[in-house]
Amino acid sequence: MVHVGIGYDVHALVEGRKLILGGVEIPHPKGLDGHSDADVLMHAITDAVLGALGAADIGHFFPNTDPRWRNASSQVFLKEAARQVGLRQGKIVNIDATMIAQQPKLAPHIAGMQANIAAALGINADQVGVKVTTNEHLGFIGREEGIAAMAVASVDRP
Ligand SMILES: [Zn+2]
Repeated sequence: MVHVGIGYDVHALVEGRKLILGGVEIPHPKGLDGHSDADVLMHAITDAVLGALGAADIGHFFPNTDPRWRNASSQVFLKEAARQVGLRQGKIVNIDATMIAQQPKLAPHIAGMQANIAAALGINADQVGVKVTTNEHLGFIGREEGIAAMAVASVDRP
């Protein structure tokens, strides 16, 4: 039976941090603040996959008080989510995600993000949808104070 899960995440844009989205380092004067590499896209997808399992969220598996995850690559989180799917004899059917960012332009990096996400999850890039939209200059995203991502995952499992 196919189960679906949803994930949402947001991180603040600050100076002095790299901007890493979908495992791609993107040239930009600001980056996302967080305990790990703050890859908001991978975090939303991790929660979507865990949600399809009825499992606890990313913070349960990777508490942000744990020094092991300081500046960690968020690919570790996706790999753990995929491992949890395998533990339940499941298979990821597909992922779809949308990033909401006013700046920078992310479209040129989408193919690289899809490849990184697929590799971390052990699926094909054509099973990973990544889309990007602006916030039409509205609110904190529109003011370039942060970037958000939402994702759904479908998982075929007993
Ligand atoms: Zn996060």
